[in-house]
Amino acid sequence: MSHSLSTSTTNDMITEEPSSPNKIPRLTRRLTGFLPQEIKAIDTMIPLQSRALWNKHKVQKFEDAEGFDDRFIHHVETTLARSLYNCDDLAAYESTSISVRDNLVIDWNKTQQRLTARDPKRVYYLSLEFLMGRALDNALINMGSEPKPNSNGDELLGTRDMVKDSLNDLGFRLEDVLAQEPDAALGNGGLGRLAACFIDSMTTENIPAWGYGLRYEYGIFAQKIIDGYQIETPDYWLNIGNRWEIERHEIQIPVTFYGYVDRPDGDTPTTDPAQWIGGERVLAVAYDFPVPGYKTTTVNNLRLWKAKPTTEFDFAKFNTGDYKNSVDQQQRAESITACLYPNDNFAEGKELRLKQQYFWCAASLHDIIRRFKKTQRPWSEFPDQVAIQLNDTHPTLAVVELQRVLVDLEKLPWAEAWDIVNKTFAYTNHTVMQEALEKWPVSLFSRLLPRHLEIIYDINWFFLQEVEKKFPDNSELLSRISIIEEVYPERLIRMAFLAIVGSHKVNGVAELHSELIKTTIFSDFVKFYGPSKFTNVTNGITPRRWLKQANPELSKLISEAINDPKDDFLLDMTKLTKLAEFADDHGFQQRWNKVKEDNKIKLADLIKNLNNGEDIIDREHINNTLFDIQVKRIHEYKRQQMNIFGVIYRYLAIKNLLEQGASIEEVEKKFPRKVSIFGGKSAPGYYMAKLIIKLINSVADVVNSDVAIADLIKVVFIPDYNVSKAEIIIPASDLSEHISTAGTEASGTSNMKFVMNGGLIIGTVDGANVEITREIGEDNIFLFGNLSEKVEELRYNHKYRKSEMPSELKMVLNAIESGLFSPENPNEFKPLWDSIKHHGDYYLVSDDFASYLATQELVDQVFHYEKSEWIKKCILSVANVGFFSSDRCIEEYAETIWNVEPVKPE
Ligand SMILES: *Cc1c(COP(=O)(O)O)cnc(C)c1O
Repeated sequence: MSHSLSTSTTNDMITEEPSSPNKIPRLTRRLTGFLPQEIKAIDTMIPLQSRALWNKHKVQKFEDAEGFDDRFIHHVETTLARSLYNCDDLAAYESTSISVRDNLVIDWNKTQQRLTARDPKRVYYLSLEFLMGRALDNALINMGSEPKPNSNGDELLGTRDMVKDSLNDLGFRLEDVLAQEPDAALGNGGLGRLAACFIDSMTTENIPAWGYGLRYEYGIFAQKIIDGYQIETPDYWLNIGNRWEIERHEIQIPVTFYGYVDRPDGDTPTTDPAQWIGGERVLAVAYDFPVPGYKTTTVNNLRLWKAKPTTEFDFAKFNTGDYKNSVDQQQRAESITACLYPNDNFAEGKELRLKQQYFWCAASLHDIIRRFKKTQRPWSEFPDQVAIQLNDTHPTLAVVELQRVLVDLEKLPWAEAWDIVNKTFAYTNHTVMQEALEKWPVSLFSRLLPRHLEIIYDINWFFLQEVEKKFPDNSELLSRISIIEEVYPERLIRMAFLAIVGSHKVNGVAELHSELIKTTIFSDFVKFYGPSKFTNVTNGITPRRWLKQANPELSKLISEAINDPKDDFLLDMTKLTKLAEFADDHGFQQRWNKVKEDNKIKLADLIKNLNNGEDIIDREHINNTLFDIQVKRIHEYKRQQMNIFGVIYRYLAIKNLLEQGASIEEVEKKFPRKVSIFGGKSAPGYYMAKLIIKLINSVADVVNSDVAIADLIKVVFIPDYNVSKAEIIIPASDLSEHISTAGTEASGTSNMKFVMNGGLIIGTVDGANVEITREIGEDNIFLFGNLSEKVEELRYNHKYRKSEMPSELKMVLNAIESGLFSPENPNEFKPLWDSIKHHGDYYLVSDDFASYLATQELVDQVFHYEKSEWIKKCILSVANVGFFSSDRCIEEYAETIWNVEPVKPE
């Protein structure tokens, strides 16, 4: 990578207005970091005498309906080059978005100017995934100025309601306009959505923060279900353009791959500066997404990089007439940011993936360093100005890259550089599962990033020296703790270990998980560093999107009940505790239940639409049908298979009762109405997960068409689960399932979303379910199953065939084996039963199945025969869900890991 810093003049460089002309040079220098000889260029860019004119025409935000109408029509007629005669919903969406974006950009400029002037410590959140979903509704809710009286002067209107009314007057329905927006689905699941919730909260909390990620041309694939099988289709989300992004073609950062390391002085140690002579060179172009916060004019930036060819061209090829080949070669640069890898909790060791990681780390660090250098501070102050959070190990190369820049380019002594690196970075671990831990072959590194490999070896060498000093003559410890895994046929780089050694703090994402990493995968590091390097920050979710936006009716009911007309509870969730006063209030319970029923109807409508207009759910009985929902990535550890086995058990039990002559009314007493709703994507190469999807769909076919059971059970698989579907599904749940094998789900975040929307949970003692139980009370959650401490022993028992399969599970597996759900191919699901019966039941379905069924029975009991108790549990849960606001997470990170302070707007 070339070290010449790109001299862009983007908004974060030019700042505050000088108060008097003779102060300009010094102030400009302080604010921009330009050298004196460069200042002239800046100052002459806009001559002083012209500035008054600029100020006179300063662009203003629209404040009221009149202003919005004006902006909207302006953009329809000029930006879109359309008119009153051909403005459809899509054009209305685009024009609304650009108009809203105008307001955001004005505040965004002010935010960046303020930050340049105050120069506080900034946070950089590096995440390979940002699962943002739609932006417009979120922006309307977040940017809402304080609610104002409407034209009649009576009702309070926030920006969203004002725009809604305006659009109505202009001939559109806000709902239709919002529905035009494609999801920004640049993530797989929980990890990517966490990053999205975090940048919302960082902005809301006025933390000076930037997100850095990749602008994938294709986000997570769209899922189609054909004959019950998952089919992946490309998600070309930029098809209709993207009105939220700002292309910064003036910010282009060269990134290098391959090549060799040059040491002019010959045999110097690798810890001396060296020169990396790169082979392939590509450019990283910045695309900026303004991130609004709730009730603040702070607007932060999400910067995503796109790869493009350099403008250099290969003279040698050109001269030999190989023009076409030379162009093709260049074109390949763009493949780096073409596609998001569609794996959740699984590390696929592909070269292109490593290229993505380095491309993104190098460009982001370069950008961060450029910003730091403008302040002309010494390098020793870098960690006082910059905190970099690594979302999982994906950005661990940034650790190595910073060390390289400091040693090779800035010529800092190794130890001094390493001290800066260590104080700058912190690492969030997201899993203890082996298959998800990144390990890269040394051979791949030596080709792609030869200088980085040397630096990693040196980091490891110094680290192992220290370990040796503390624990002499312990070669087993050394090989266990080494960043390099010596394993046949080739050595691997353990990225998690590198991230730990390169960071000053390591955190897990829920208490149980943070304890587990200390006692299992990272136990040697706890021995060496002591426990204080390891900490916990339990995940959270933004209540703006997951309560206000997803569930406006519940939000309204809450704000009325707790007398908070300005929705301040969305900032201070402790206000929700007041809801507990109404938990027993029958009238309130009924209003609460009505909101839930309306949300269930909306979900039934969505399901009907997805099913070609055919209703699956019995509308007559919606209120006394339990909506039992499991939506999340499909994974054996998340145990959707156990859920569908439970459905099969219920179906078989109902059939048995009917065969024994029971009436349908009698059967309904024992097995009341229930819809089991599933959704989620499988990684395209994950055979077992795809088979689980097929089984769910096959069971749905049989059960839904069996008239004998008279609608007592329905099974629905909602295709293409994503953020905007989640916003409809989650508010409609009576019960949601978070039933991972204990010790496997690091936190889970959809569990929090469901509770925040007044649904109850059936769950294992895993991830954040533990803290959810502590916060909302154990009477308000249905826990079951073995604890994580038992897992090892249970697996051992399976291995030595000391486990008994419960009869209920035998019955279910027999039915599947009989071909009940796959008459054409009775062996279709063989791998699923084999994994339990013959391959050690790694996910312990047989150990938890009986208690799962018993707990489901209890759920039925309370939902159908103690409905008032049920609703009371829901109300009490929401009253105590405040802890799971991502605002609380960000406060914890800011205080205990980043050491940053908010910078509030004036
Ligand atoms: C919240 C969320 C997830 C994470 O769900 P878990 O159940 O915590 O794994 C995944 N996908 C989407 C679209 C989400 O909104």
